[in-house]
Amino acid sequence: MATIIDGKAVARALQSEIKDEVEGLKRRWGMSPGLGVVLVGDDPASHLYVKNKEKACKEVGMRSEEHLLPASVSERELLALIQKLNRDRDIHGILVQLPLPAHISPEKVLLAVSPQKDIDGFHPVNQGMLLSGGEGFRPCTPMGIMKLLDSVECDLKGKNATVIGRSNIVGKPVALMLLERHATVTICHSRTANLKEEVGRADIVVAAIGKAALVRGDWIKSGAVVIDVGVNRLPTGKLSGDVEFEAAKERASYISPVPGGVGPMTIAMLLFNTLRAAKESLQREG
Ligand code: NAD
Repeated sequence: MATIIDGKAVARALQSEIKDEVEGLKRRWGMSPGLGVVLVGDDPASHLYVKNKEKACKEVGMRSEEHLLPASVSERELLALIQKLNRDRDIHGILVQLPLPAHISPEKVLLAVSPQKDIDGFHPVNQGMLLSGGEGFRPCTPMGIMKLLDSVECDLKGKNATVIGRSNIVGKPVALMLLERHATVTICHSRTANLKEEVGRADIVVAAIGKAALVRGDWIKSGAVVIDVGVNRLPTGKLSGDVEFEAAKERASYISPVPGGVGPMTIAMLLFNTLRAAKESLQREG
């Protein structure tokens, strides 16, 4: 029977350290880290995500500045706002909530954010840094996943890690982070021939698919560590992960729940990156 990985508790501990550091920055330098949030359109899920991120900022004493734009905003206007935030010395991190309306190119928008303020780690410069093992900003959800693995002292060296999902925001970056920590990584996706077999070999399973309970509990190797990234709304209104939780729990050594696993960590890592951006801007200013 697996131990449940308590993402809320791990995130709370991290946020408390961040809060202390934010207070220190205020005391010593009179500065408070600032997050610029850009939200286009009225997608209810995006509004909820942004609200949660802003609430978390406030809890650790950071400033957040919301820029709400109508879905009809032109790409040029959005890019102009990003340039303004890039120049704003009181804004250390910029978050552009995705998805964007169809007439706006997400590539152009992500490219416009200064890599030094790209606390989501989506800019190609930061993606490239991750690929080459550099120090750039890294995406929050994969960073949160790595912290959860560390929280249970999961030894990754030489272990078989199977990542299901190859998105730019979760699957690919987390696969690179696992590789960096010397795991033997397999990336599975919608065209993978035998998912059951790939999962059955894994000492560590990271599921980032977006399909409720697609990963069956009896596929899990006995003693494996399972991190479930998926967030799926069931017809009952309840949330479910990508892993068949109750059955997987019987076989895994550790498993992260949904909700209460990866979700809180994503927000904590966003705060972590914003604090880091603020500290680095102080260093640059000498
Ligand atoms: P995505 O849609 O961009 O990617 C999904 C991936 O799953 C794709 O690479 C696809 O190849 C793979 N896939 C689809 N069907 C498959 C199948 N039958 N077998 C194997 N692979 C299959 O999604 P994403 O943005 O990477 O997000 C994945 C999930 O994680 C979603 O449920 C999302 O809501 C959740 N998520 C949670 C957080 C969080 O903070 N908790 C953050 C990001 C994403």
